[in-house]
Parts: sequence; C-alpha cells; structure tokens
Amino acid sequence: MPFRHSGASRTITRRPAARSPFVALNPTRSERTPTATRLRRGMRVHHLNCGSSCPRGRRLINGDGGLLERGHSVCHCLAIETGDGLVLVDTGFGLDDARDRGRLGVAFAAMNAKPKAETTALRQLEALGFAAGDVRRIVATHLDPDHSGGLPDFPDAEVHVLSTELDAALDPALKDKLRYPDVHWKHGPRWVRHDPGGDEWFGFESARVLPGLDAEVLLIPLIGHSRGHSGVAVRAADGWLLHCGDAYFNHGELESPPSCPPALRLFQTLLAADGKARRSNQERLRELASRHGDEVTLLCSHDPHELEREQARAGTASATG
Ligand SMILES: [Zn+2]
Repeated sequence: MPFRHSGASRTITRRPAARSPFVALNPTRSERTPTATRLRRGMRVHHLNCGSSCPRGRRLINGDGGLLERGHSVCHCLAIETGDGLVLVDTGFGLDDARDRGRLGVAFAAMNAKPKAETTALRQLEALGFAAGDVRRIVATHLDPDHSGGLPDFPDAEVHVLSTELDAALDPALKDKLRYPDVHWKHGPRWVRHDPGGDEWFGFESARVLPGLDAEVLLIPLIGHSRGHSGVAVRAADGWLLHCGDAYFNHGELESPPSCPPALRLFQTLLAADGKARRSNQERLRELASRHGDEVTLLCSHDPHELEREQARAGTASATG
C-alpha cells in the first residue's frame, strides 16, 4: 500500500510567535496570498537546525580552522507549509534526547552531540507560531537517531519512509542493532511505507508522498548510507529542493572534482550499509548538480555551510546550538 490517507483535511492555525529566535516572518502578507497561488508557485519552506554536534578536529571535519578546535555539524531539517498542514523532512533530535543524551548511545557521545530542547523541531515550530498538531506528515530520509529523534514529539503525524529503511530499522540485523535503537518509535508512529515506481524525476526513481495534493514532495531513493536511505525532493517557491540526507556530508562532494574533509570521508565509508551504491548515488548527485543546478538546489543534513546558505536565501534564521 503506497499511501494511507488519514481523514479530512485541516488547515494550519497560526498563533502569534512568542519571543521567536527567528528573524520575524511576515504571516500577514503570506495569509493574504491565496493558497492556490502559493501552491502553483511552490511551497514555503523553513530551514531548521535541529541539533548540532561539536567534536574536536575542526580542520578534519569542516576543512578549516585548527586540529584541536571544535568542529560543527548540524541537522538540517525542512518544515514545508502546504495547504494541508506542515510536512517535516527529518526531525533531528527530540525533546527526550535533550532530557537524556545517554539514550543516543556512545557514537553520539563521541561526536559530542548536543541535543537541546530549544533546537528541537517542535520548539522551533512553536516559536514560529505553529503547534505539534500542525505537523501532519514527516518524511524521513532514513531512521538513524539524529534524523528520527523528534518522532515522539509529533505522535499524530504520518511518518513516510521507504519500505526497505523501515524494515531495516524495525527488525534490525545484528550488526544494525546499535544503529537503530528503538527509543524513537516506542510510541508507535503512524508509518506510511513507500516503494519507488512513480514518475521519473530528473532521471531518478521517485515515490510521491502526497498524491492527493498539489504539493509536490517526492521520496528519491539514494541507497547506500543506509539500506533504505532516500532523498526528498520538494517543489519550493523558487525551484526544486533536493534534501539529500546523508548521501553526502560536505558541499565539496558535489563539485568536480569532489573534495571532502578527511574525517567526514572516513565516517561515511565506515557507516555505509552499501558502499558501492553510496558512491554511485553520490556520483549521480554530482551529475544532477552539474547538469541541472539552475533548476534543483541540493542540500544535505549535516553541512553548516549549506544550512546558512539556505537560511539566508529563505530569509530565516534557525536557533543555533
Ligand atoms: Zn545523519
């Protein structure tokens, strides 16, 4: 079953933002804009950092600074306004992770991951004037803990994910048991499985997440980092965005010839569920960026440079930390 519809549509209720850490948006203007026009022009997208990690070795991680300086990695998530509620692309860390960092395991402790309540998607959306119930759908690039931590904060949302990723996470092979601790889905999320087979998207397979709406959000399988890893394509107001999740880690990897700080290169190699597929999909992304860079903006989960670029372009600033 590629899509499970869940009842009547409802609109987002905007509430006044209380002491928002964001640059003020202009809800009055956007509310005056007819929904159909906004959808025809594309959807409004917020770029959020839902969790930073600051391990030592900045030069090896970010490609600048000193060896002993702390590096910086972000969890770049998207919040998309549609005519039928918000769609969240990945959730970063959640409130429970901020309360108890130990639940994320030793790998994230070694990464000096810093989940904080104020940088969760929930708290950032509340600061923008939304409520948890406004998030009707979450689309997960994959289910590693730094991408799925906020699932319990939105218990009523559908969670859209590739079938292969869901199977890998819910019934992990022995070697994947540490990768997929079950703390983020103990509450029983409303999973919606997807299998590719939809329209071709710039030469990639796709699965449409919202088939009943004008809003265009597509899962684009990019297998390799994990067994069911995918990108998420979103038709935004000024063109397509492709959230590539962990298909690459540094913007230099999209250039020809590609470059990547050594610690990130090693990290990706060690974590890959299928190294050959990962390298091949990264090559396809380079080709996409080179041939269609004027139509598609690519971004990944953990590159602070890309997050800053997209926040500047969208005119918003996420909470830092
Ligand atoms: Zn990640």
